[in-house]
Amino acid sequence: MSINIPRGTQDILPGTVEKWQHIEKITTEICRNYQYKEIRTPIFEHTELFQRGVGDTTDIVQKEMYTFTDRGDRSLTLRPEGTAAVVRSFVENKMFGDPNQPVKLYYNGPMFRYERPQSGRYRQFVQFGVEAIGSEDPAIDAEVLALVMDIYKTAGLQKVELVLNSLGDKDSRVAYRNALIEHFQPRIGEFCEDCQSRLEKNPMRILDCKKDREHELMKSAPSILDYLNEYSRTYFEKVQSYLTALGIDFTIDPTLVRGLDYYNHTAFEVMSRADGFGAITTLCGGGRYNGLVSQMGGPDVPGIGFAFSMERFLAAMEAEGIAWEDDNRLDCYVVSLGEEAKDYTVKLVHDLRTAGIKAERDYQNRKMKAQFKAADRLQARFVAILGEDELKENKINIKDMETGEQQEIALDQFVETLRKKMEEK
Ligand code: ATP
Ligand code: MG
Repeated sequence: MSINIPRGTQDILPGTVEKWQHIEKITTEICRNYQYKEIRTPIFEHTELFQRGVGDTTDIVQKEMYTFTDRGDRSLTLRPEGTAAVVRSFVENKMFGDPNQPVKLYYNGPMFRYERPQSGRYRQFVQFGVEAIGSEDPAIDAEVLALVMDIYKTAGLQKVELVLNSLGDKDSRVAYRNALIEHFQPRIGEFCEDCQSRLEKNPMRILDCKKDREHELMKSAPSILDYLNEYSRTYFEKVQSYLTALGIDFTIDPTLVRGLDYYNHTAFEVMSRADGFGAITTLCGGGRYNGLVSQMGGPDVPGIGFAFSMERFLAAMEAEGIAWEDDNRLDCYVVSLGEEAKDYTVKLVHDLRTAGIKAERDYQNRKMKAQFKAADRLQARFVAILGEDELKENKINIKDMETGEQQEIALDQFVETLRKKMEEK
């Protein structure tokens, strides 16, 4: 019996992997322009890191972690997200001492969550994310938002919407928290069990509940924006005015919350508005986390970041019907005829490749016609034909597959001639 792939995971096969590489190229280039540097942290961490860094009351920690005990009796967890590990590394490597502040980092790698698999929801998925740690300037909030929108725009996505909110600073949140408790308490019995336990622990997360979304008290709930103090309101206005100056559209949704205690000020999501994108429309989530670094044992420095999954990014591109030129097309297929010519192409194809030309030959002992067919399948720009006679006369035939034009050239000039022809293309 054969063994199948685990539920909620996927193989990314040739033909699809090029799409991933295309996006990775965009993210890498844009991060370079914005001066974010890559960080790579382990796939597993101490379980405690996520309990503390993601939060005990979150779905991730309560229901979704892949936690195991290793042979040394340590509790380890496959990382469910990137921020906690980046902050751990920031503290552990004392990056707060780096004269270049804020420290601007990005990551790209697999994350693991035990969720019910469905479209756009996997148990292993790949997140790209950035963190800017060490600045509480609304300009850095605007920069992080500009960076993610730049990535989507460069990939050709048009039907994306940036949704923005402010959670205010600590004082604003305490005032808002009390207002929420007052609002929900009298009728909390009508809400799900999760919401009932959220009321005392973290009432903001009630607004994020997927089960009780339609309850009338959700719609009449007080708005955080009415509870922002002077500093928080000014901060939020600054972020908005920077975005406007950058020509970045956004909408404000006062019910957008990120429920962790250390989240504050800017919170945001990017949604896909493309038809046929499916039920889950969130492409990206992020926000400011000014209390996290100190909670993880570092100094009291502020931070902001976001993460999106490659899987949902690709689904959005598909929904918008975005295609692009795949530049991995074969340059030259070398067809050979007869044993001696065949032997000769071993070195010939190697010479083409080391000269930077994408080259291929036959390894199946195919007849000439079948070799031509293979060249067609690979969409070769040129086909070179080497027979016994040509070999004796130190010649080779080149056929331009786009124009049909054929040419006989000296074998020792072949690589150089082809290189020039490719440059002309
Ligand atoms: P959701 O509400 O969809 O569960 P979340 O709040 O759990 O999202 P975050 O933890 O904020 O998501 O992660 C940021 C992004 O990572 C999401 O916006 C989404 O693009 C992606 N993401 C999260 N979970 C998954 C998953 N199981 N499979 C694929 N992508 C995911
Ligand atoms: Mg989730």
